[in-house]
Amino acid sequence: MMLPDRTVASATSMAVSGAEVVREQSIDLQMSSDAVPLRVAVLGSTGSIGKNTLEVIAASEGRFKAHLLCGHRSIDVLVEQAQACRPRWVVVTDSTAAESLGPGAFPKGTELVIGPERLEELLAAPEVDRVVSAIVGAAGLRSTWSALAAGKTVALANKETLVTAGPLVTQLAARSGATIVPIDSEHSAIHQALRSGRRHELQRVVLTASGGPFRTHTKEQISEVTPEQALKHPTWSMGPKITIDSATMMNKALELIEARWLFDLRADQLGVVVHPQSIIHSFVEFIDGSVIAQIGPPDMKLPIQYALAYPERYDGPARRFDFGVAQQLELIPPDLERFPAVRLGYDVAARGGTAGVVLNAVNEEAVQAFLNGVVKFPQIAELCERAVSEHPFIGDPTLEDILRLDAWARKEVQTWMC
Ligand code: NAD
Ligand code: MG
Repeated sequence: MMLPDRTVASATSMAVSGAEVVREQSIDLQMSSDAVPLRVAVLGSTGSIGKNTLEVIAASEGRFKAHLLCGHRSIDVLVEQAQACRPRWVVVTDSTAAESLGPGAFPKGTELVIGPERLEELLAAPEVDRVVSAIVGAAGLRSTWSALAAGKTVALANKETLVTAGPLVTQLAARSGATIVPIDSEHSAIHQALRSGRRHELQRVVLTASGGPFRTHTKEQISEVTPEQALKHPTWSMGPKITIDSATMMNKALELIEARWLFDLRADQLGVVVHPQSIIHSFVEFIDGSVIAQIGPPDMKLPIQYALAYPERYDGPARRFDFGVAQQLELIPPDLERFPAVRLGYDVAARGGTAGVVLNAVNEEAVQAFLNGVVKFPQIAELCERAVSEHPFIGDPTLEDILRLDAWARKEVQTWMC
């Protein structure tokens, strides 16, 4: 197949080299509407980030084209998306769900592909220019790994990839010449703010947290909250797993670990501040005392567009901050007593090794158990803490060690919950 002449001259791995805070890339991208569109693989297209990504692509005036869509079980949504986007491939990772597809479900020219193994092969195809990694949970690790191994530019929403295997993932990107640009709003803010200084001038990063729906609850009230209450996030509209993570503030724990590996930081360079309005998306402090923040309304379309278009910017569909309206922006130190997950995040970020994979695996299982009414809300953090402290820790794990401990932790926590 003839490929359009589009050169990505130096896709150096973002921020993982350590040479600069964020190394500016020499990229020859024609970010104008008359250029050949960049072909995007959207993993998790049926989810919250996936749908926002398709909106960004639809509003990109031909800069981007959805070339591959991938979903797990939401077949109806996938069919609708395929009819609208006419991608080259639609991948259904759950083979049982794919059985419900009738002939002619997809438009002419769109090929149905089934299973995660085939997905991994397709991600290495030269015609995939960008990969949006937006599968939820550790299930996103393998596809992200394949895209990075193939040297692709990955717009990364799936924070669990970095939480479980951060150092291995960034080393892989450095070896293959892949680039990781974060979609997570806090990390997008940090990525943008880091462009204000150089590596040796960096003091620390401070992640903002909305505080979730139970920010002002007492410890006793928190112990009795229901899944329905926990699924109502005050400022962001997101998938169920990350919404529960925001309520426990485990999301901030995962994000501390994500930031540590993504930006190659020391654990003592990480901080968290509660900011209930979700307007300031994070801070970077430099050694002279300057603090740089990125702000905007809570709308994931902006960090998605930033990650897809980096290092370019253009006028896209994200909501704008309104300076004509009086606003109060609060910053409050987090209460580690009522939200112990944040403390655990600091500990796991400092410990490294297999602490991250165990934390993530147990959290995924415990969140599901909470949603199923099997455990109470505070038990999510308690189970995570116990697993992190009791597991057979390995300081410098291989990918096999990580996958083995992921399976071990999931099995072990099931026995603790019954
Ligand atoms: P979601 O639940 O809305 O969507 C999840 C997607 O993953 C769906 O397309 C689903 O089909 C797919 N999926 C689920 N299990 C799968 C499996 N086993 N194999 C393959 N695909 C599978 O989740 P979301 O809110 O869009 O979050 C996606 C990721 O982005 C998460 O890692 C989350 O932490 C991160 N993130 C989300 C937001 C947000 O605003 N939603 C913000 C920052 C980061
Ligand atoms: Mg976030």
